[in-house]
Amino acid sequence: MTLKKPFFGGNWKMNHGPSATRGFLTEFLGQYQPHDDRTVVFFPPAISLAAFKVASAERSDLLTGVQDVYWESSGAFTGSISAGMAKDAGAGFALAGHSERRHVFGDADEDVSRKVAAIAGEGLVPVLCVGELLEERDRGEVEAVVTRQLAAGLSRLSSDQVEGMVIAYEPVWAIGTGRTASPEDANQAHELIRGLLTESVASARAIPIIYGGSVKPSNIEELLAAPEIDGVLVGGASLEASDFAEICSAGGV
Ligand code: PEP
Repeated sequence: MTLKKPFFGGNWKMNHGPSATRGFLTEFLGQYQPHDDRTVVFFPPAISLAAFKVASAERSDLLTGVQDVYWESSGAFTGSISAGMAKDAGAGFALAGHSERRHVFGDADEDVSRKVAAIAGEGLVPVLCVGELLEERDRGEVEAVVTRQLAAGLSRLSSDQVEGMVIAYEPVWAIGTGRTASPEDANQAHELIRGLLTESVASARAIPIIYGGSVKPSNIEELLAAPEIDGVLVGGASLEASDFAEICSAGGV
């Protein structure tokens, strides 16, 4: 499947239970009309996925994913969901390696690699998140960190599976802080990622490389104007229907 660009992802994190999901969609559906030149994917909490599906049943343009999976398919893993369960619930995408999973819950590169493989193995689209901490940026380690995280994330995939994924560059210091990477800095990291993907697969150009970190209506256009930025992953601003509708309407040809 080739994903249309620009790609807009809304990561709700641990916000919007089923009732709030229905309320959000009542507003959002009136404010965002289908566009056939882009991909829009919501990542609600897994417990809100069914409510999302029912409330958006008329809108096949709005796709869904989960925020995390465990790599085993079933068993004694209290609190976790598997990629197969996410697929059964109607998700088409799954995040892996989001910075909050890495830095709050301790997901290591090896864990992320197993999760990406489980997601792709079920035929879902993995959205692999990579990005450096502020101290790593200050030490000049952006390239080393992003290269390491990307290599680990791709290590268990076939070329075909890599060609079917999305990479999100999310510098940790820009997530939820109000501090956005400049389009130039983000573009530079995206160029690095594109170059690394080109070493692994023939059609690296088709893989969406999206930026995340304090994206909002006031900075979306300049970010999408950067040549290597194929879309965005939005946290805080995806919780407000009007803000996210504005973001998802930006860019395009
Ligand atoms: C995110 O959660 O992926 C994110 C980028 O958050 P925010 O937009 O709030 O910085």
